[in-house]
Amino acid sequence: MQPPIDERVRSFLLSLSRALGTRIENVLDLYLYVSPETVRIVEIVERGGKIAGLRLAVRSRKKPDVWYYVAVGEYGAKCTCEGNTIGGKICRHIIIGVITWNMISLIKRGEDIDPTKLTWLSQGEREI
Ligand SMILES: [Zn+2]
Repeated sequence: MQPPIDERVRSFLLSLSRALGTRIENVLDLYLYVSPETVRIVEIVERGGKIAGLRLAVRSRKKPDVWYYVAVGEYGAKCTCEGNTIGGKICRHIIIGVITWNMISLIKRGEDIDPTKLTWLSQGEREI
């Protein structure tokens, strides 16, 4: 029997925090930020029966009238915020993108995203 979804999400968040080299509390904070008021799915990228990536808009926490556009996938991620476009950093919007991607994959396919396979996550600087 498969564990309930909240247990799977918890283990995903733990794995994500390890891949990022950050504390679970930081990742949990971003997970709790995700809601229909703060995250909008733009496109679900499906390939070979899998959810291969996601394009989404994430509302700025500091400037609620601003939305950042994010793309996440196996081979990399992009965001329209300054931290990513100028600083080249893994920003909080990208991490929110990965968390949302995992939720979509769980709901639509019953499969988790494996953060350890997203090598770009553990490379480069991060903002959280
Ligand atoms: Zn960003």
